Amino acid sequence: MLIGKGKNKRVAEHIQNIKCPSCNESGSLLMEGYQEFLILGLPVFPISKTVQVTCSACKKYFPPSSITNEMYRGVQYIKSKTKPTVWMYLLPILTVVLVFFGWRSSVRKASENISKIEKVKTGDIYTVETGDLYYNKMEVLFVKDDAIIFHESGQSSAKLKEMQYMDSFYGDTVAYSKKDLLKLNSDHKIEEIERH
Ligand SMILES: [Zn+2]
Repeated sequence: MLIGKGKNKRVAEHIQNIKCPSCNESGSLLMEGYQEFLILGLPVFPISKTVQVTCSACKKYFPPSSITNEMYRGVQYIKSKTKPTVWMYLLPILTVVLVFFGWRSSVRKASENISKIEKVKTGDIYTVETGDLYYNKMEVLFVKDDAIIFHESGQSSAKLKEMQYMDSFYGDTVAYSKKDLLKLNSDHKIEEIERH
């Protein structure tokens, strides 16, 4: 991951009423304002501003140590016009957007699950989180009064991307009440309820 500092030119102006200390030309000093920003793989936020001074007439570059008092006013003016842009906050913006969409899709999934739990059907297949990002499946065998009887897969828990290979059920039979299932769902432990 790239960690460092980027810079982007935001302003470029010839400053009038200031003479070049090198060639004495008036209005020839080109001042370019750069906005620097922190990068952690992507731009994170703006940090300092720098101004680069060159003379368009004699081509001399003036490093910060050679800036005269007269030029300094121009530098301050360019700094005040140098503003960050929105993409310099790209990483925090993307983070907020991804968290929001992740949250919205988990809310939508949880509400779809509720309607399937309320009208449970034989053959529904539940993908349930059993541990930290490990999942297992169980299939609804039958419903008796308030008890929903499941057949577990009998296989060991797996990561989500491997769940598609878990398609047979020869494990233990277990019983849940609707209340248990709704609790699991509100705890975001039910990843998916497949119905064919
Ligand atoms: Zn000059």
